[in-house]
Amino acid sequence: MSGIDRAREILAAADRVSVLTGAGISAESGIPTFRGAGGLWRNFRPEELATPEAFARDPELVWEWYVWRRGRIGEAQPNAGHRAIAELERRAPVFTLITQNVDGLHDRAGSRNIRKVHGDIWISRCSRCAYQRRDTATVFTGVPVCPECSAPLRPGVVWFGESLPRAVWDDAERAVHGSQVLLIAGTSAQVYPAAGLIDLARSAGSSTIEVNLDGTAYSGAVTVSLRGLCGELLPQIVA
Ligand code: NAD
Ligand code: ZN
Repeated sequence: MSGIDRAREILAAADRVSVLTGAGISAESGIPTFRGAGGLWRNFRPEELATPEAFARDPELVWEWYVWRRGRIGEAQPNAGHRAIAELERRAPVFTLITQNVDGLHDRAGSRNIRKVHGDIWISRCSRCAYQRRDTATVFTGVPVCPECSAPLRPGVVWFGESLPRAVWDDAERAVHGSQVLLIAGTSAQVYPAAGLIDLARSAGSSTIEVNLDGTAYSGAVTVSLRGLCGELLPQIVA
C-alpha cells in the first residue's frame, strides 16, 4: 500500500482527529516561511524582529514589519491544503486544528475549531493591560496606543522567547491526547513546545501522519511520512 493510501485509510477510520500545521502550509499561498527563501524583510532576519527585545528597542520598526506582513497576507488566498483541512473537520466527529501560523488563512478556508498557539497577526493587544482588538490596518501610521491605559499596543502574536498562551496550549494538548490520529503538515517541528505535540501523540499511542516538503527530525518516527507539497498531498489523503 502506498503512503498516501495508508494515510487516507487512517484518517477515514478515525473519529477523533487533530491536525498541527506550520508555515509550510501557507507557502503555496505566497506567504514565505521564516527559514525558507523570501523570509527576509529589508535586511532583517525574523529572529531580529519577532522578539520582545526588538519591540522594546524599536516598536516603530517592529510594527512596520507586521503591518507589511499583514498586507501580504491580506492579498493571499487560502490554498488547496487549507481547504483539505477544513474538509477533514467537516467529516471528523471530533476535530481540532492546532496551528503555529498567525495568518488567518485556515479561518478563511473554513476551518472552525482552531487553536492558534502562536497567536494571530490580525489582533493587536496592549503591552501592559488585557485590552485587545481585531486590527486590519495594513498601512503603517505609527505605533498604536491602548485606549484603556495608553501603553503601546503590540501585535497579538507570540514572539521568540515568549511563552505560549496557557489556555490555548492546554486545549491543544488535551485535543492531541484524546485523538486517534495527529496529522502534521508544513512544519519543520523545530519550534518547541509545539513540536512536543508530536511526542505527546506518539506516547498516547496515536497514529501520526507527516506531510512536509523536506524530511524532519520526526520523519523516521511517524506512522506515515509523506514528502511533497501540502497543496497536492493533503487533498489526496482527505479525498
Ligand atoms: P517551520 O519551522 O514550521 O518550517 C516550515 C516547514 O514547511 C519546513 O520544514 C519546509 O520544508 C516545509 N514546507 C515549505 N513549503 C511547503 C509546502 N508547500 N508544503 C509542505 N511543506 C512545506 O516554519 P518557519 O517558517 O521557520 O516558522 C517558524 C514559526 O514562525 C512558525 O511556527 C510560525 O509561528 C511563524 N511563522 C508563521 C507564518 C504564517 O503565519 N504563515 C509564516 C512564517 C513564520
Ligand atoms: Zn492597556
